[in-house]
Parts: sequence; structure tokens; C-alpha cells
Amino acid sequence: MTSVPNIPKDPNDQAALPQGAIAPNPKDIAPGLYLVATPIGNLRDITLRALDALAGADLVLAEDTRMSRRLFEAYGLRPKCEAYHEHNADRRRQSVLTALQEGRTIALISDAGTPLISDPGYKLVREAAALDIAVFAIPGPSALLAALTVSGLPTDKFLFAGFLPPKSSARKRALAKQKATQASLIYYETANRVVAALADMAETFGPRPAMVGRELTKRFESHYRGPLDQLGAQIPKEELRGEMVIVIGPPEESDDLWDETQIDKALHQALSEQSLKSAVDEVTKVSGQTRRTIYQRALDLQKRP
Ligand code: SAM
Repeated sequence: MTSVPNIPKDPNDQAALPQGAIAPNPKDIAPGLYLVATPIGNLRDITLRALDALAGADLVLAEDTRMSRRLFEAYGLRPKCEAYHEHNADRRRQSVLTALQEGRTIALISDAGTPLISDPGYKLVREAAALDIAVFAIPGPSALLAALTVSGLPTDKFLFAGFLPPKSSARKRALAKQKATQASLIYYETANRVVAALADMAETFGPRPAMVGRELTKRFESHYRGPLDQLGAQIPKEELRGEMVIVIGPPEESDDLWDETQIDKALHQALSEQSLKSAVDEVTKVSGQTRRTIYQRALDLQKRP
């Protein structure tokens, strides 16, 4: 007679799962809100726990129900599925919270990767947590970690900065604030803006080592690596489509302190848009110089005819 392993009732109780045991089946999914990571391209990148949660949930909230159906069909799942996206989230949230308080099991998924990461769900989790509703992460793919790990750039500290503003002037301002960050930087970018974004990054950060990860985990996955000022030219025109992540290495020690030319340029720009105080604050933050130095320089610049 073969013995059937005890399947833990608590989905968090990994220690209780005997070696070689089958995954908990959907019935073992406790009530609560499940944040379920789904593939970022390759449909096989799904965890057994994710399948259990999707199969066992009373309701799956999906960013795009049509897109999610592809995933459900691949795994023979037929969950009750409703839309939860940036346009209806404010309207839907209260009824979702009420259902959770009544003891329902609800899974949240996005079109790809980990929900809440440049995707909807943050306010739902915040409010569920405030109401003491159980919230579980079912971790799995996320484009930022896939890109960082294949980049060949330092992984010990990183800043995920999401999407940059589409307009170059706002983008450069956002980049300037991240210039002094002592960590690898990760950005999501659309294919039609990637070359312009790389040019702005080269202008702001100089020729730091960088990488563009394109169509990760998919059939036509490609990686481009090189100094920021050469990277845009390396990507063939026909590859300027699909999904992209940009990873940039941290600054060298010698990059830390801005020289006078960099400070003057940033101050000119900041003073044309902001008060003296906030311009000085902004440039102090990114230049690595003391506030006093920047303040004095700003006064000098203002005195110039
Ligand atoms: N929640 C997702 C995650 O965990 O990665 C991100 C969603 S965000 C709306 C979509 C962006 O993620 C794309 O514009 C692209 O920058 C990046 N992305 C998603 N899938 C990707 C892939 N397979 N290869 C490269 N980048 C990808």
C-alpha cells in the first residue's frame, strides 16, 4: 500500500509539505486575496501554486480577461473571471473587499508577470491589509528580475524605477534625480521610445554599462549589452518592437561628484522652472555636492547678466 502524503492546509506552510509530495490541490487554498504571478511570455513559466490558486479561487480578477483566457485554456482552467484594471479599479474595489470580508478566495492577476509591479492592485492590497484580510503572494515571473539577472550588471543593490515620462524634458529630470543612486537601475520602456530614452540616459549618466532585454522568455528573446552611449545604435531597426527592459550599472566612485559644468547645466534648467530653494534642493540631491556649494553657485548664476 502506498501512503498518501499529508497535504498542509495552510498554503504558507511549506515546511509541512513532505518531500516529493504533490502540490496542494485547489481545495487547500485558504480564503483571502492571492496575488498570482503569471508568465511574461513563455506560458510554461507558471508555478504549481499559481495553478492551484487560479483553480481554487471563487473569482479571478484579471487586467484583461481575453488575454488571461489564453493562460486558462493552456492549463484547462475555467475560473470565474472578471476585469480589474486601472479604469474600473476605483469602482470595483469596494465590492471586492466586501466579498473578501465574507470569506471568499479571490486571485488577482495582470496581463503578464507579477501583479502590482507597474500594474493595478496596490490600493486593493493596501485596503485589504487595513481590513485584516489575508493577502498571499504567489511569486513567479517579473520582467525586472529576469532582465536584471541576465544583464551581467551588479545585482546586490538595484532600483526599479518603472516607466519614465514619455517626453524628453520630463524624462531627463526624472533621470537626473536617479543619477547619484548607488545601485543598478531598472526601467520598463516601450519599443518606440527605447532609442530616445537611451540617448537621454547616456546624456545624464554618461557611458555607464547597460543592457536592453527584449522579449524575455519568448521565442525572439534578445539581449543587447554595451555602454549607454552606444547601446541605442546596436539594436537593429527590425528589433525595435516587442517588450523591453533597460538595466543600467551603478555609478563609478569617480562619477559621484558632479563637476562645475554639470552643476551649472542642471541649475540653469532647474532655475528656469522652480524657485531658488527647490532648484538648489534638487541639484544638491543629484550632484553629490553640499547644499552650501550648490546654493552659492546658484546665487552666482543668478547674478550673471
Ligand atoms: N507586471 C509586469 C512584471 O511583473 O514584469 C510588468 C507589467 S508592465 C505594464 C509591462 C512592461 O514590462 C513592458 O512594457 C516591458 O517593459 C516589461 N515586460 C513585460 N514582459 C516583458 C518581456 N517578456 N520582455 C521584456 N520586457 C517585458
